[in-house]
Amino acid sequence: MMTKLPALPYKHNSLEPYIDEQTMKVHHDKHHQVYTDKFNETLADYSELQKIPAEELLKDLGKIPEKIRQKVIDFGGGYVNHSFFWPLLKIGVEPKDEVLEAIKTKFGTFEKFKDEFSKQAASLFGSGWAWLVMDKGQLEIVQTSNQNTPISDGKTPLLTIDLWEHAYYLKYQNRRAEWIDAFFKILNWDQVNKNFLDALTKSR
Ligand code: MN
Repeated sequence: MMTKLPALPYKHNSLEPYIDEQTMKVHHDKHHQVYTDKFNETLADYSELQKIPAEELLKDLGKIPEKIRQKVIDFGGGYVNHSFFWPLLKIGVEPKDEVLEAIKTKFGTFEKFKDEFSKQAASLFGSGWAWLVMDKGQLEIVQTSNQNTPISDGKTPLLTIDLWEHAYYLKYQNRRAEWIDAFFKILNWDQVNKNFLDALTKSR
């Protein structure tokens, strides 16, 4: 059983001007495809592991043979993180509903959350991701390096920003702060709220 690259849930130019069409083509059609292909290659000789969804493999890395564990982290993580990322993006959806209330309860105001998240995203050294997660029923902002995912630490992702240069370099070059600002203009809060409600259900 092979893992397939999920189709983008919108057109490559749907997020213009915040993410340009060329970046989307390279990011989804090339980078995400390569993570998917290499994940499949990694599991080529492990037919039992092929039957388990990638998220489940990442939840329990101790069960992955040491010989392929790092590749599952890198390529399985790359596959899962990008699959989670695309549906989080849409122009014109304001922060709302239960997740907005939970953010205000945790961080005081939405602006305080945005400032704290942006700081963490800006300060990540090298390539990786910044996340809002639920951990034991509590909201938390975390960073991960490379393609590591908070799933492997038992946390449930609610939203994330890709901080690899391939996510923004064509348009923003080295100006990561501008990419973080743009990201907040295209966050799909319907999807974030869905992730929040799913996480609440799971944590009960
Ligand atoms: Mn990426």
